[in-house]
Amino acid sequence: CGIVGYVGAQSALDVVIAGLKRLEYRGYDSAGVAVLADGTLANVKKAGKLVNLEKELVSRPLPAGSTGLGHTRWATHGGPTDVNAHPHLDNSGRVAVVHNGIIENFAALRAELAERGHRLESETDTEVVAHLLAERFEAAGGAGGGGLAEAMRQVCRRLEGAFTLVAVHADEPDVVVGARRNSPLVVGVGEGENFLASDVAAFIAHTRSAIELGQDQVVELRRDGVTVTCFDGAPATVRAYHVDWDASA
Ligand code: GLU
Repeated sequence: CGIVGYVGAQSALDVVIAGLKRLEYRGYDSAGVAVLADGTLANVKKAGKLVNLEKELVSRPLPAGSTGLGHTRWATHGGPTDVNAHPHLDNSGRVAVVHNGIIENFAALRAELAERGHRLESETDTEVVAHLLAERFEAAGGAGGGGLAEAMRQVCRRLEGAFTLVAVHADEPDVVVGARRNSPLVVGVGEGENFLASDVAAFIAHTRSAIELGQDQVVELRRDGVTVTCFDGAPATVRAYHVDWDASA
C-alpha cells in the first residue's frame, strides 16, 4: 500500500518511518522496515498499526544504517500477520523487497522456486520476488556484475500483474532499486541522498525535486545518482518536476 526507500546520510529508519506515517491515511493492516548496516540486512515487521512496529523497534532496535526501505501493507494474498507483512527476504537473508499490487503468476513462480530448493515462509504473492532477485543477482555476477538493478530488470520481465517493487541487497549497501508496472513510484532527488516512494507525500519534508517513473521502468538509487532504465535495459525517458503543492495540509 505505502512504500518508502532511502539512501543517503541520515538514519534510514527515521526517514522511512516518518515517510510511512505520511502515507498512513491510505489505510493498511501491517507494516515493516529493513535497514542495511555493516554489511548486513536487519528487518522488523508487525501486524497492525505503525505504533505496533515502533514498539517492536524499541524492544528489538535495528542497527543504525543509512540505506533502507519500509512498507505499509493492505493484504491481498495471505492474512494480515507478522509473517505476511513486508519486507520479504530470501533464504540467505541478504535481499529484502516490499511490494504494492498483485503478482498474478506467483503460484507458478512459487512452485518453480520450491523445485529449486527455496523455502518460502509467507502466503504472499510478494515473497517470490525476494527469492528470484537473490538468484538473478548471483547469476548476473553479484555486486561486481550487473548488480541489483540488473537482477530487478530480469525478474520484472517474468512478473505478470500490477506492481511497485523496492528492494535492497546487503552486497550493495549503498543502492536501493525500484520498479513499476501499473502502480505508482516516484523518486525524490536530494543532495547526497535520494528517496523512493509510492507517493511524494512520503519525502516532501526532505525534497520537492521529483522524478516520475514511467511504465515498465527500473530505477537504481545511490547517494549521488539516479539511473532509470526500461525493463529491457535500454535508457529510459523520465519526467522530472517540482512538487509545489502544500504537503502540510
Ligand atoms: N499483494 C501484496 C500482499 O498481499 C501487496 C499488498 C499491498 O499492495 O500492500 O502482500
